[in-house]
Amino acid sequence: MKPVFEKIVGQESVKKLLAHALQQRAYSHAYLFEGPTGLGKEALAREFAAAILCPSENPPCHTCHSCHQVAAGTHPELRIIQPEDPEKDTSVSVEVIRTMIKDIYLKPYQGDWKVYIIPRAEILTFQAQNALLKTLEEPPDHAVIMLTSSQPEKLLPTVLSRCQKANFRPVKRERIEKWLQEMYNLPQKQAYALAAYANGTPDRAVKMLESESHRQQIQLFLTLTDTLSEGRLSPLLEAGEFLQQDKQKTLEVLSMWQAWIRDLQVISLGGEESLLIHQDQLERLTQQSARLTTRGYPQAQAILEEAREDLINYGNLAFVSEMVLVNLHKCLMPGT
Ligand SMILES: [Zn+2]
Repeated sequence: MKPVFEKIVGQESVKKLLAHALQQRAYSHAYLFEGPTGLGKEALAREFAAAILCPSENPPCHTCHSCHQVAAGTHPELRIIQPEDPEKDTSVSVEVIRTMIKDIYLKPYQGDWKVYIIPRAEILTFQAQNALLKTLEEPPDHAVIMLTSSQPEKLLPTVLSRCQKANFRPVKRERIEKWLQEMYNLPQKQAYALAAYANGTPDRAVKMLESESHRQQIQLFLTLTDTLSEGRLSPLLEAGEFLQQDKQKTLEVLSMWQAWIRDLQVISLGGEESLLIHQDQLERLTQQSARLTTRGYPQAQAILEEAREDLINYGNLAFVSEMVLVNLHKCLMPGT
């Protein structure tokens, strides 16, 4: 039998829980998918919804009318609860929940079930949560409600206690690597590097893979490491300007640096190729390593860690980005 929910990597215990419910066609009235962002909570909620609504024997079949409707976002019995104006509103109002409640008590029009997904449930106002509570206490038999949240502590304890919890956890690197190879047909070395960047969050790897700007970012980053190893400070600062686009990007580049320096350390210690994160960049790493001061590596890691904290806490983006490069240059170039 084909495994269910294969689109989502990891989260075996959650998948097991849901697969069991599917097998029995017996669902909790409310689920809470909780855990850090980027682990596929909403994607799995949609897959589970597709499975509940799919009439085939091995749901979700991805081939029937119902599954197509779910994929196209047009299934009449699947509602995604969002702010009234998702572009502007940062919370889900009580009115939105009241409309949902009116709808939930109507019998399904197609099939036996109605499914409601509330992504990022922490953005429900307290009033909205209270309104939802009554329905969670006495839901109609045909309804399944799924909440997803990375900040469940912002939900009322009474809401939490009425949901069956499904905990999402960071995914092991090896698992992400294998999944990237299978799902995206990636060569092993590239899958390995992406899985390392993903740092437990498969979404990060997928975003990098799918976005052109991420590919450019990697190219720019590689150029930056070359410029650093050639010891030219002002071209380095110029090349480093892409670090200053926004805080999130800069944090990403900092973790790219940390992975890179780690690889340089592995090379300088004569470690095996299989220990490298950037196995596809072995030649580049070896050349750079020959030019850099190996004893500066631990200090370089400390500089990067400090910059990360500065940036998260209060740091001025342009200043931190520039200082990182100046300091890396200082501690990694021989004779500076
Ligand atoms: Zn189907």
